[in-house]
Formats: sequence, structure tokens, C-alpha cells
Amino acid sequence: MSVLSVEVQGSTREFQRIVGSFKRDDGPTVVCVGGIHGNEASGVVALKEVFSVLQSKRPSFRGELVGVAGNLSALSRSLRYINEDLNRIWTPERVRQIKTTAPSPFEDGEDVEMRELLAALEAVFDRSRGEVYFMDLHTSSAFGAPFVLLGDTLRNRRFAFEFPVPVILGLEEQIDGTLLEYVNGLGHVTLGFEAGEHHQTTSVENQEAAIWIALMAAGNLESGSVSEAEEARNKLTASVDHLPQVLEIRYRHEVKPHDDFVMQKGFRNFQKIHARERLATDRHGDVLAECDGRILLPLYQGLGDDGFFIGRDIKPFWLRVSSLLRYLRADRLVPWLPGVRRHPDQPNTFVVNRQVARWLVPQIFHLLGFRKKRVTGDKIIVSRRLYDLRGPNG
Ligand SMILES: [Zn+2]
Repeated sequence: MSVLSVEVQGSTREFQRIVGSFKRDDGPTVVCVGGIHGNEASGVVALKEVFSVLQSKRPSFRGELVGVAGNLSALSRSLRYINEDLNRIWTPERVRQIKTTAPSPFEDGEDVEMRELLAALEAVFDRSRGEVYFMDLHTSSAFGAPFVLLGDTLRNRRFAFEFPVPVILGLEEQIDGTLLEYVNGLGHVTLGFEAGEHHQTTSVENQEAAIWIALMAAGNLESGSVSEAEEARNKLTASVDHLPQVLEIRYRHEVKPHDDFVMQKGFRNFQKIHARERLATDRHGDVLAECDGRILLPLYQGLGDDGFFIGRDIKPFWLRVSSLLRYLRADRLVPWLPGVRRHPDQPNTFVVNRQVARWLVPQIFHLLGFRKKRVTGDKIIVSRRLYDLRGPNG
């Protein structure tokens, strides 16, 4: 597998596909990917730091931590991607295509990256003996507090609430083909971690803290065994100042090619915004906020098709309601709702007629554990998230 040298924060560091692995006894597996976006190298730097502490302190540890680098060719050029976004191509069809075709000498860019990354991850998943926890490490072009994002299964929630930063629901639903969603579909516990601005040293520190917390939450490390792990919670708590614990994404502004999208300067992640406030401009004129809320991931870099997201605070009460509904398997009532019918050939999937089921806002389906898959005309396709209450092995 490829070995590359890249510039990170002024110094040259060498990266390879497997950043490191630390294993003792049988136990859970934590897999962290850094740099799936090649301009977000700090995840790889953080992983190296954690491995070096583990190697030198040799704490009591069970299971395995594996660090994997995402887009090596893009990392070497500090670009988000070369030909296409490596974090938008993990659709079932594309993965099947990779698995059923031999590598071609004409393959390049993200085709090669995806093939190597898939092989590296499958090798780890295959040798795992306990539960697998998967964390994808990112940074953003905007400044602001770190946060976690997840596909909203109860297993993912339990893991996410171990991190003392805001939890964002519904972000993954707005984007198709992410590695996180692919791995979640395999039944592993998954979490995305957004650490802060690409070039801040605090982003590397936040990612190190997130990896330590993941190791404690998964059960690899006992609390008190490594001082860095002990300090991790304080570190993240200090970086989040009076922000809501849970937000749900209500809106995504998609940037199309040749839109000439320019974000208004100075927005930070979680900054409060008001409906009709000017957030950006493009070739059609002003881009105004669709609704009140908090802005997330405003785009201040050339590459990427997510202009910004708007999130709204969610009261913890609704999360408790949703847990209860899911334990009661309230989703069994869905086929009897007006304007809802089963998808003719996809299991756990329903077609919702928005004309009839006007009152069935997406939030109701979210409460019950569904993910919006597609909107076509007046129809919404929703599917039940698998492995909500239990993993693939029961
Ligand atoms: Zn990213």
C-alpha cells in the first residue's frame, strides 16, 4: 500500500494507509479514519499521537485500536479530493462494483483510494471479535466548537452521548454515499467527529481527545488508566461553551457547479441565524436563510457541494420519547397510517404521499427510527434504520 509524505502545519510528515494498530487481548475494536478529505490531515496527526502515547505508556487495554488514513493521494496535495469526493461514493452499487471487479491499470484517483480503503477496513472488521466502533474524523473550513454527528440509531446515540459536545442528528441524512453510512449499514456503531477549523492546533487536540473518549466508551481502556484519556473529557467540555446538547438539521443548501457560491464572511459553526438573513451570494443573487436556527459547516473552501446547513435545538424530552417508541416497536403501526404504503420491492421502506399525509412531518419518522432516502415530487421514501436496538449478531 502507498506511503506518502505530506505537509501538515508546516512540517513534513509521512502517512500510510494503516496509521497504526494497538492490540491486547480480546475485546472491542475501535476503528478511526482520518483524512478521508485530503485537506483534513489533522485526524491522521491525532491518531499518530494517540498511538505513540499507547506505545510508550502501555496501559491495561483490551481489544484493538486501528487508525486508517482516508484519501492518500489527496492528503499528499492537501486537496479535499482529486477527481471526486471520497466521502460521497460509498453507495451499495459502487461498493458492489469494486468487490466484483479486479483492479484495472487505468484506475486512478478515488477509485484506487476506495478500493484500498475498503480492503483495509474489511481486514479489520473480519478479525474483530467483539463490538466494532467506527469513528470518522473531520475538520471544517469554518471556525467553531467541535461536534459529533450520527445516523440516529439508539446504539449510535449511546456512544455519541459519551462525548461532551453537541450531537447533530440528521446531517448524514442530507448527504448520500458517506463512508459512515456504509459502515453503519454493516451493523457497526458509528460516529462522525467534526473537530474544528482545518488548520487549528486545537482541532488536532480535539481529535486526540475524541479518540481517547472513544476508547473509554467502547471499553478498551478503563477510566484512570491514562492521564491523556482522563483529561480528554475536560478538554472537549472546555471547547464547548453553553451550546445545546442536541440539534437536528432542518436544511441543507446545495451548491451546484458554476453557482459562484460565496459564503458571507465570519460565520462560525453554531452561530445563531434568523430566517431571511443573508448567508451567502451566488449567481442568482442573495442566498437567504430558510428558517431560524444555527448555522453549521458554512463553506469557506473551493471544493465541496454543501454550502451550509441549518440546525435547530432538540429538547432531550423528544429523544426519550423516541427511545420509548422504538423499544415499543411503534414503527409496526406505520403501514396503517393514511398516505403511507410499503415500498413494492425494498424491505423496511415506505412511500409517503405528502398530499395525504401532510401532518406526517419528517420528525415523526425520525422519532420512529426512519431515515429519509429520497424525495420525488409529492412522495417521500423513508426507510427504517437497521441495527437500531441490536447489532448484526443479536
Ligand atoms: Zn471532512
